[in-house]
Amino acid sequence: MKLWNHYHTPQTVDEALALLRQYAGQARIVAGGTDLLIEGRAEQHPPHEALVDITSIPELVTIQQDGDWLVIGAGVTHAQIVKSALVQQAAACLVESCGVVGGPQVRNVATLGGNVAHALPAGDGTVSLVALDAQAEVILNGERRWLPIQDLYLGPAKSRLDPSRDLLLRFRLSRATSGQASAFNRVMRPQGVALPVLGCATWVQLNAERTHYVSARICIAPVGPTPSRAVVAEAVLAGQPVSEDTLRSAVAAAQESLHPRTSKYRATHEYRHELIAVLLRRTLTTAVERACTPAAV
Ligand SMILES: Cc1cc2nc3c(=O)[nH]c(=O)nc-3n(C[C@H](O)[C@H](O)[C@H](O)COP(=O)(O)OP(=O)(O)OC[C@H]3O[C@@H](n4cnc5c(N)ncnc54)[C@H](O)[C@@H]3O)c2cc1C
Repeated sequence: MKLWNHYHTPQTVDEALALLRQYAGQARIVAGGTDLLIEGRAEQHPPHEALVDITSIPELVTIQQDGDWLVIGAGVTHAQIVKSALVQQAAACLVESCGVVGGPQVRNVATLGGNVAHALPAGDGTVSLVALDAQAEVILNGERRWLPIQDLYLGPAKSRLDPSRDLLLRFRLSRATSGQASAFNRVMRPQGVALPVLGCATWVQLNAERTHYVSARICIAPVGPTPSRAVVAEAVLAGQPVSEDTLRSAVAAAQESLHPRTSKYRATHEYRHELIAVLLRRTLTTAVERACTPAAV
């Protein structure tokens, strides 16, 4: 089955944009192709007129430190993220979430940008980027700018980016400082479609003595059409002592404020409600342990 008529591998962002303009809405960006090409085959789309492969653009496939930011190209693969010492240092939850995407073959080609642009609320990389309060650099309607990651999402599989005209270029995260740490965990169906029953990424900032939470960011998904923060549970943690009582209050707040629905592909509401407690407890405990480890920043 033919999936495209022309395949281009631009070497610069300008070349990619020129190709998108040339095909006037008939070309489509591709990175690893693990969502796009599989959908094309499964849904028996007519071939794309052109695919514009962004994975040869150096700026989009590098991970680098830029002052206080860690910058990750949209074309960086999940496998590259897992191996990166820079990401391990700054964003353990992102390493953990990229490390469970598909199997090794998928992780070797599938990209963080593709995970975000596909706009599923429970994309594993996406969940961690939301908890890390990442920003995305985009070319949207011809204008290059940085946006909070959550601003990219409109609904399930709907992003503000038109992948026949717009480009996702890079992500940036604040580099972790002393007392900050994160963790990710998910529960997946043992077989069948690649949909997590629930995923959770948690980031914490503890005080200098490591006795109190200064702040926390939590993303539990999918519990709605777009990935979002568990803000009620975050507010419960802020300023409170690191203790079993605080953890219980945060779990209760998350369970009261989030409403995962029953899904025939995932699980029942009741089961997923219980998982909120399990995953938040696991990730919060791990993030706090990491924040208390002197070697970890
Ligand atoms: C067997 C299998 C298992 C999987 N398991 C998981 C899993 O456990 N967790 C999970 O989250 N996902 C999973 N996936 C889904 C997929 O692998 C990931 O979402 C992956 O990160 C997609 O990246 P990609 O580079 O392959 O995207 P592509 O398929 O190349 O692109 C996806 C979409 O994003 C657009 N796009 C890509 N890059 C850009 C860019 N830079 N700018 C603008 N638009 C862009 C494309 O046009 C397309 O619409 C799985 C897929 C398979 C086939």
